[in-house]
Amino acid sequence: MSEKNTPRGTCERFLDRASEQLQLEQEMRHLLRACYREMRFELPLKRDDGSIALFYGFRVQHDQSRGPFKGGLRFHPDVDMDHFVALATLMTWKCALLDLPFGGAKGGVNCDPGELSTRERENLTKRLTERISMIIGPDRDIPAPDMGTGPREMAWIVDAYAHQHGFTPGVVTGKPLDLGGSLGRVEATGRGVAQITALAAETLGLELKQAKVAIQGFGNVGANAARFLAERGAKVVAVSDAGGGKYAAKGLEVKQLYQQIYGSDRPKSLTEIEVAADNLSNRELLELEVDILIPAAIGHVITGENAGRVQAGLIVEAANMPIDCEADAQLRERGTTIVPDILANAGGVTVSFLEWVQNRQRYQWSEKQVNDEHAKRLARAWQETSERAQREQTDLRLAAYLIAIERVVAAIRLRGF
Ligand code: NAD
Repeated sequence: MSEKNTPRGTCERFLDRASEQLQLEQEMRHLLRACYREMRFELPLKRDDGSIALFYGFRVQHDQSRGPFKGGLRFHPDVDMDHFVALATLMTWKCALLDLPFGGAKGGVNCDPGELSTRERENLTKRLTERISMIIGPDRDIPAPDMGTGPREMAWIVDAYAHQHGFTPGVVTGKPLDLGGSLGRVEATGRGVAQITALAAETLGLELKQAKVAIQGFGNVGANAARFLAERGAKVVAVSDAGGGKYAAKGLEVKQLYQQIYGSDRPKSLTEIEVAADNLSNRELLELEVDILIPAAIGHVITGENAGRVQAGLIVEAANMPIDCEADAQLRERGTTIVPDILANAGGVTVSFLEWVQNRQRYQWSEKQVNDEHAKRLARAWQETSERAQREQTDLRLAAYLIAIERVVAAIRLRGF
């Protein structure tokens, strides 16, 4: 059993709670915890200055009962096997909750992409692809972008995979449009976070137009969630990135901020730009007096240590596992509503699924078609989860896990042992 306060420990505690409620037999509980495959390998990289850097590459495949493995590739210095096991497991529940025909996987490299040149990132990505090419494929395991990776890396994977298997755009999702990517994919996770936040606010009787929102992380997910929430009339009072944040009690000009950060070739950090707002730290952001808090950066930022100081009544988990199991219990006790990651950030994998469908059809859908299907699927998942929570008089996380795990267990039993 893992340490309680690691991402893997948190993941196991959440699974245990649901398994208990579903009265699953011990063998099934063990199966749901175990990963199908955990791969770790050395990745040497020749740096531009001629030196050799050594990294570790990972790919963890958790479950494929409902379809091929699916999950992102993360380039970040603080990753290890346990981290990827937790994230791969979450992907299984997320895909099942959204009723997508996929299982769960995750992987990546323990590097800081910001310290690598474009050529170095290309070589590292292609080397990683060579090492996992025998276990990925459109019907086996379909990687996608995650922290530190994006469409550029996905394009390099398509190229490296093609050398061995022929041109196969469906091997990854989150690709650039010119290589079979889907319209709407880049913003999909943030757009989904905004939609789910609006649905949760409505259920709670919280007027989104009056609501004060703080968002930690101004990357793909956080920045797009901020944009779409501002479009819906919410008052985004604070945002942050790894270097710190900005706060304005009357609300930030999100559109302008987005343009300042992402308007040039190289995205800027919040500390580099001039804006009419106060500086604040990431810790302060989490403890602000706001209606809605959206952690959209890294895992385990709300823990047993700071949960008591979190004031928001609604927390929407845009990042994966931003709340550890201790904080989760404390916040539930206090009546805080938490929209779990497997629902809140599922907009990304939903459009990844639509991209994969388009690749198989060799056809491109219009942006409206993608966005309509995305919204419909998220609304259905929200309705199923909130109805289950109401029916069982329980929290949204347990309700979401119950639905997801029931679906995975049904597939395991149908396929046999
Ligand atoms: P990203 O790399 O685009 O952005 C990450 C943001 O977090 C950046 O603003 C970065 O500066 C900030 N950050 C990094 N370390 C931080 C720290 N210690 N404190 C505060 N901020 C920090 O990544 P992303 O794609 O936006 O992903 C963010 C989260 O959402 C991750 O947990 C990821 O797993 C999850 N997620 C992403 C997607 C997707 O489609 N991109 C889908 C589902 C879930």
